[in-house]
Amino acid sequence: MFTTITENPEATKQLGGNLGRSLFPGSIVTLVGELGSGKTTLVQGIGQGLGINNIIKSPSFVIIHEYSGRVPLYHLDLYRLAGTEEISSLGYEEYFYEKNGIVAIEWAEKMKDLLPPEFLKIKLEIVNLSKRKITLESHGLSYNKVIEKLKRLSCFY
Ligand code: ADP
Ligand code: MG
Repeated sequence: MFTTITENPEATKQLGGNLGRSLFPGSIVTLVGELGSGKTTLVQGIGQGLGINNIIKSPSFVIIHEYSGRVPLYHLDLYRLAGTEEISSLGYEEYFYEKNGIVAIEWAEKMKDLLPPEFLKIKLEIVNLSKRKITLESHGLSYNKVIEKLKRLSCFY
């Protein structure tokens, strides 16, 4: 587990950038935190880390956005979806198991029972207007390595 505080949106993007450089093809990242906690901002950073030039927007209307970078990024936002049934109909398995990209899921708690056994969980908490507490928790050994690499890139020891 790894916890850090970011003091502004740029720092959250930078953390995301280092994360993007640490993830492997097939990685699944779940993002949990209230509206405005910085989930999309972090995904924008992941995109930068993957060399994606397009601006990553909040995909609240379109549920899945695909971006092509060094590794493809699939950005899912489940905010508008009600429950497991609606989520099952998305065809998300394809993104998890076949495409070999990086999958980032906002409001991932809504598909808790559908997640594969291994993923990286990121919890974002609002400390105040500009501070966010960001906690990374690995579920699976490969994500321990991701966190170790992220720490090295960020010079957190
Ligand atoms: P979410 O996707 O969780 O709803 P967003 O990333 O869309 O959140 O929005 C986060 C908002 O909080 C943005 O308006 C951003 O400018 C602001 N903000 C302030 N401080 C931070 C920070 N340290 N990290 C991320 N966002 C921050
Ligand atoms: Mg968002």
